[in-house]
Amino acid sequence: MDRREFLKGTVVGAGVLAASRMAQTACAADAPATKAVLKLCSQEGKIPGSSLKEKAENILKFGGCGLEFGGMDVKRAEQIRKDLDGTGVGIAAMCCGSFADKQNGARPVSMDPEVRKRGLDEIKRQLEACGVLGSTGVIWVPAFNGQTKLKPEELDKVLADILPELAEFAAKCKGKLMIEPLNKGETFYINRVEQGAFWCNKINSPGLVTMGDFYHMSKEEKDDEAAFVAGGKWVHHVHVATGKSRILPNQEEHNYRPGFKGLKRIGYQDFCSLECGKKKGTEWADEIPKTFALLKQQWEEATI
Ligand code: MG
Repeated sequence: MDRREFLKGTVVGAGVLAASRMAQTACAADAPATKAVLKLCSQEGKIPGSSLKEKAENILKFGGCGLEFGGMDVKRAEQIRKDLDGTGVGIAAMCCGSFADKQNGARPVSMDPEVRKRGLDEIKRQLEACGVLGSTGVIWVPAFNGQTKLKPEELDKVLADILPELAEFAAKCKGKLMIEPLNKGETFYINRVEQGAFWCNKINSPGLVTMGDFYHMSKEEKDDEAAFVAGGKWVHHVHVATGKSRILPNQEEHNYRPGFKGLKRIGYQDFCSLECGKKKGTEWADEIPKTFALLKQQWEEATI
């Protein structure tokens, strides 16, 4: 795919977005085919507990129902699945990153076939673990700022090359590769939910999805509701933090209602997960229940 085709695709994406917004105005009272759910969870490191069982008990006590993990091997995935079995706690996404590894020289978006292969192999290892774990997907950022000298149009070509293979591999092992859009301070490439969804539409495989992060969205999206509507069926995970200081939602003013309206419009079924810091001198165990209560309240207030 060349840059012109990519741009053409973006224009098509924008056209679809405009159409969806018109539909919203025309049928504001329409509900999606499947009613959206608010499933709150957190990256596991923030949840107190010396074992996974304790963390599971605590997340339920705090008002959540899932845990997000980092990268892992298949053995650990099997163990986590066993540990959480019967606890009532679900498994959200695996937060991984760019898979660029300076030590072994791996980089999935490299033009060097060897370097690229090492990067792709690592993504595939995580996709296998994702399938075994029953996780929503492996979160991937194609390139953080400073990680590549390739220009966006060159990265478009690399993604067009590697995504069909990765999506097929993911679908085969019942995993999902999940593109995370970040703000321009962190990446010059893929900043908005619509841009993540563009690639999902292009590849059109159950193995490739995207997500939204309220912190990044506050910097890049004009309208969180429209952003999630533009992401549509491809949105399978949400990171939650405040827009300014990227901290717990109960510790700084942030309006989640527009984003929640968007999630309701698309019948969102996956997790909303805390990826944030906290104010100095406060404790996760005291604050997370307040944050979850606030998010539940705003979810109720986000009427469509
Ligand atoms: Mg994030």
